[in-house]
Amino acid sequence: MSASSLPHRIQGNTPNAISLHANPSANYADKLVETLALLKQAETEFSPATQASSLGAEDVVITHLINHHHLNVPVFVLETGALHRETQALLERTQAQSSVPIKVYRPDLEKVINFVKSHGQDAMYESLELRKACCQVRKLEPLAEALKGQRAWVTGLRREQSNNRADVPLIDRTEEVTKGLIKLNPLANWTWGDVWHYIALHQVDYNPLHDQFFPSIGCAPCTRAISLGEEFRSGRWWWEDEAAKECGLHAKA
Ligand code: SF4
Repeated sequence: MSASSLPHRIQGNTPNAISLHANPSANYADKLVETLALLKQAETEFSPATQASSLGAEDVVITHLINHHHLNVPVFVLETGALHRETQALLERTQAQSSVPIKVYRPDLEKVINFVKSHGQDAMYESLELRKACCQVRKLEPLAEALKGQRAWVTGLRREQSNNRADVPLIDRTEEVTKGLIKLNPLANWTWGDVWHYIALHQVDYNPLHDQFFPSIGCAPCTRAISLGEEFRSGRWWWEDEAAKECGLHAKA
């Protein structure tokens, strides 16, 4: 698929995420070197390693880097059954375009049906406990499956994303003893402007929801667009306190 035929390319003068955000830091080139070095370590020192992709802007950059540099780091996506159709379409395109395997993990259908039967389709809005229970069934259990047998996983976490992520290290060994897993965050030092600069430079396919002011994209019921001046992750679980805004994938130890 050529870049010009991608569904999200906006013709004319309408601003899109690239025109709004692409703005590299002065030391962007150094950051790219650092990122690539860590991805190469993922392939060697930390093998077997896999990339967890939500198909958000950061993750499409990492998958592009893995493919571009022919790194043996397979990718997985958690298809929760509640993703936007734009995300599902991007998943299909990514699977078609990627040289490294893009594996999809889905929740146990019976558990999802039972959860919805017991608590309703909108349970996540009723209480933090029910929201976390939904994340447990739809995300955390498939995640555990995806990480079985892995030594490390690669994420798109960046320090700039939220206060909760302000200390994200490049190599996070917090879960090494308890779970035997190392988390690698090759974009920890990147800004939002760096991410979009890379996407623009390499014409990386991305989720068109980013053009509609969704900086952080998760499940459809739990993600909304944000307004000018709102925090990066304020469109995720917007009805909850800032401190609760992680689904458990990246909860602090
Ligand atoms: S993000 Fe929302 S819909 Fe997705 S698993 Fe969590 S609570 Fe459920």
